[in-house]
Amino acid sequence: MALEEKTLVCRDCGQEFLFTTGEQEFYQSHGLQNEPSRCPDCRASRRKERWGNYNQPRQMFNAICAECGVETTVPFEPREGRPVYCRDCYAKQKQSG
Ligand SMILES: [Zn+2]
Ligand SMILES: [Zn+2]
Repeated sequence: MALEEKTLVCRDCGQEFLFTTGEQEFYQSHGLQNEPSRCPDCRASRRKERWGNYNQPRQMFNAICAECGVETTVPFEPREGRPVYCRDCYAKQKQSG
């Protein structure tokens, strides 16, 4: 039986996307009965969400190192009056202090 490309509608964003014959073969070979209900974009972003807890870096804030003046990013919001250090200087601070 020949496979045909199908047009499906993403349940997340409502956009139409192609369920290609290649994907259908993949689904069949893996014994998956259900057609994908989300477009590749939404699938990718959902996967990212799921892995986010493990892999994704936390939100980073731009800051200027109080020691050497280099631009750096820190995982917390820099506050006025609180010095922020780049990774190098932070390591130095730890060693010396
Ligand atoms: Zn979508
Ligand atoms: Zn520095």
